[in-house]
Amino acid sequence: MAAIVIEGAAAAREVYAGLKERVAQLALANVRPGLAAVLVGDNPASKIYIRNKVRACAEAGIHSEVHALAAGTSPTELVETLARLNHERDVHGILVQLPLPAHLDETLVARTVAAQKDVDGLTWQNLGALMAGHPGFEPCTPRGVMTMLDRAGISVEGRHAVVVGRSTIVGKPMALMLTSRSATVTVCHSRTVDLGAHTRRADILVAATGRAGLITAEMVKPGAAVIDVGINRSAGRIVGDVDFAGVKDVAGWITPVPGGVGPMTIAMVISNTVLAAERVAASPRAS
Ligand code: NAD
Repeated sequence: MAAIVIEGAAAAREVYAGLKERVAQLALANVRPGLAAVLVGDNPASKIYIRNKVRACAEAGIHSEVHALAAGTSPTELVETLARLNHERDVHGILVQLPLPAHLDETLVARTVAAQKDVDGLTWQNLGALMAGHPGFEPCTPRGVMTMLDRAGISVEGRHAVVVGRSTIVGKPMALMLTSRSATVTVCHSRTVDLGAHTRRADILVAATGRAGLITAEMVKPGAAVIDVGINRSAGRIVGDVDFAGVKDVAGWITPVPGGVGPMTIAMVISNTVLAAERVAASPRAS
């Protein structure tokens, strides 16, 4: 039987609809949530991601502004821009589009963006808060995945989850979130021996590697929930890490690429920005 396809776009629209009431409440307190997106250089894919986020802000009725910096921007200039945005009262969330040009170290962003405006959940304070189980801002992609699992009614507690990929922004926080929801979690990566032996044991399989079609039908347990985070360009098309055509006949649930995790990631950025504004509104002295 073909898997149930978990559509991210529809779920994202529901998130925006749910945010409208909160945005209206903030308006009564004269607060309009604002997201500042910082783009360095002219990577075409990054430009598309930024454009999609600006559109999503408009859909949720929140303010957005794009700070486009030249590809040759120095580390000092980037830090100065972020430090300025940290103090802007109209900016509640700051998002730096990754990847940065090679001469800029991503940890610069993680160390400079104010934790209370870090709606991408990348700063070490927020990653530490996630590790310790305290409220901060959670990284948007794994948070989007958890939301999709919940919406689809897929239980997590006691299930065996396998996360393929161990990046700081996706794989590791994904494994932490699944662990906090009482899944038993295996993390696989580029040095894992016999990947299929692990993935075949997964009730919930999350692929976040950037390797097109890495997960094939014979690597999937029948009935598993397969979540494809990957975004890869292959023969002029955008595809995931999962061989969708083959895996959909084995899995119980599957997310498409495009139109799966991507739209939910953006929805989580917007949701975190509204949350950041609510925290400011509840504590008027904060900026
Ligand atoms: P990354 O390059 O930082 O990490 C990739 C991970 O995959 C590494 O931990 C590596 O060990 C593992 N890996 C690579 N090859 C492997 C293999 N053959 N077998 C097992 N593991 C392997 O990438 P990332 O930032 O975590 O992103 C992963 C993918 O997700 C990319 O395609 C990226 O574009 C996509 N992504 C999508 C969204 C979204 O919103 N949908 C958000 C972030 C990233």
